[in-house]
Amino acid sequence: MSQLDDLLRDLVVANRILAHENVVDAYGHISVRHPDNPRRFFMARSLAPELVERHDLIEFDQEGEPVNDKRQPYLERFIHAAIFEARPDVMAVVHAHAEDTLPFGLIKTPLQPVIHSGSFIGGKVPVWDIRKKFGDTNLLVTNMAQGRDLAQCLGKGNVALMRGHGFASAARSIIEVVRLSVYLPRNARVQMAAMLVGKPIPLSKGEIAARAAGYRPHSPETWRAWEYWANRAGCGDMIGTPHDHAPKA
Ligand code: MN
Repeated sequence: MSQLDDLLRDLVVANRILAHENVVDAYGHISVRHPDNPRRFFMARSLAPELVERHDLIEFDQEGEPVNDKRQPYLERFIHAAIFEARPDVMAVVHAHAEDTLPFGLIKTPLQPVIHSGSFIGGKVPVWDIRKKFGDTNLLVTNMAQGRDLAQCLGKGNVALMRGHGFASAARSIIEVVRLSVYLPRNARVQMAAMLVGKPIPLSKGEIAARAAGYRPHSPETWRAWEYWANRAGCGDMIGTPHDHAPKA
């Protein structure tokens, strides 16, 4: 299998995982940058992530338009195109509406890492308000200008909340963006629960840095989570072996 084959297989698995872990439902999507052409990326056609198969994946150009494909794309594909454009280090992007994250897009208290598995959120999460620049809209990111404004809010970070809508997350790999997107709502839930009874103690900058320094993308611990999520999502037979995911020479 080529690197592209492996990536597209992982993208299908990631769609199923995000659905099974309640990060996405009928809406929400995940993309991966083309390994051989950094100006392009792959994402499913407009379809609930739980139902995505390999043949549903479409290649997109840097403006978020499908390449030689007439099938209906997701309306909000510009979120992905704009983040890939702004962030050469980012290889995978998720957009979702996970309910537990939404309160933090509406209040002054920032969402931030409060549990060890939330450390990869990175710090206080910025909130993007589409109304600031674009006035009254339907809240959806339907063009590159809106996508670029969101990407600017994301900055060098890993996550941006979208007021009254959801979040966008970005990472160096599919596994990392899935993990981040699975633990983001859980971290939000714990932070919210703590706020009901007191003032939560967030992870310190040093703790966040220590977690990031200790992370190994191809470690048995990373694989363990991927294997677990894939099996829960009913696609454990699709994931290959840890070897397939090791860096290619
Ligand atoms: Mn959306």
